[in-house]
Amino acid sequence: QGSRYAQNYSLARRRDGSAGMTAGLTFNGINKSFGGAHVLRQVSLDVASGEFLSLLGPSGCGKSTLLRIIAGLERQDAGTVAIGGRRVDDLRPKQRDIAMVFQSYALYPHMSVADNIALPLRMRRLSGMQRLPLVGGLLPGSRTTQAGIAKEVTRTARALGIESLLARKPGQLSGGQRQRVAVGRAMVRNPAIFLMDEPLSNLDAKLRVQMRAEIKELHRRLGVTFIYVTHDQTEAMTMSDRVAVMAEGEILQVDAPQVIYADPANRKVAEFVGSPK
Ligand code: ADP
Ligand code: MG
Repeated sequence: QGSRYAQNYSLARRRDGSAGMTAGLTFNGINKSFGGAHVLRQVSLDVASGEFLSLLGPSGCGKSTLLRIIAGLERQDAGTVAIGGRRVDDLRPKQRDIAMVFQSYALYPHMSVADNIALPLRMRRLSGMQRLPLVGGLLPGSRTTQAGIAKEVTRTARALGIESLLARKPGQLSGGQRQRVAVGRAMVRNPAIFLMDEPLSNLDAKLRVQMRAEIKELHRRLGVTFIYVTHDQTEAMTMSDRVAVMAEGEILQVDAPQVIYADPANRKVAEFVGSPK
């Protein structure tokens, strides 16, 4: 097509051999109020294609609202969001080439693990949408046949170590297993960008540490852009290429973890990451 945004998508390096594209993301001058509360104030950021970026800040500072705006689940009052250089403000969530993993898993309790993971593929099949709207043609046709879907579900479950759980219902799983299912459901969408909103906060400490490493491995393997929301600074600092520190609806600093530790932009950042300044 030669369109402008297509040039800003790049092929991700995937060790598992599946083809994928990733894209950078830009938001500019985002403002959002709920009633009288101004929860995002002129928030701007460039996220590079393939980068792992964390949004770090205390509860209530606007992280989830920003992520929901990127995903198209919430509409900003002002400002723009672009994926791969293309404005997406008028696109519905499903059209944005993004998958989101929530803190609360949001699995369907009456459906098996296999059906939960297969759901995005089935919906795509039903809607006849075999091409992703932004980049097009990423999904091989085989992934939208019944057999292709089953194969994809098995492959994804194997990658996440939950192949033996495919017949179970979410109620029969531990928290960590449920979170893997939620990640699997996002993975089968083959998105250009992953958004994760405190995906580990419901897990116990030991499992959290293990899942951190697994999500990092997923990022390495898929090579696509991750935006990871957390209020846990250890999580942000150990997982991220860059961290955007937020407070009260503003981004205070965006830098590599070691820079934020060594050279916090101001007292608020220093207090939040616990480094001296
Ligand atoms: P975080 O994810 O950083 O904890 P949120 O983005 O969830 O913060 O919330 C930021 C602020 O916006 C909070 O004060 C919250 O109460 C408020 N808020 C979020 N969503 C809504 C909503 N749908 N209606 C009203 N207020 C909201
Ligand atoms: Mg939140």
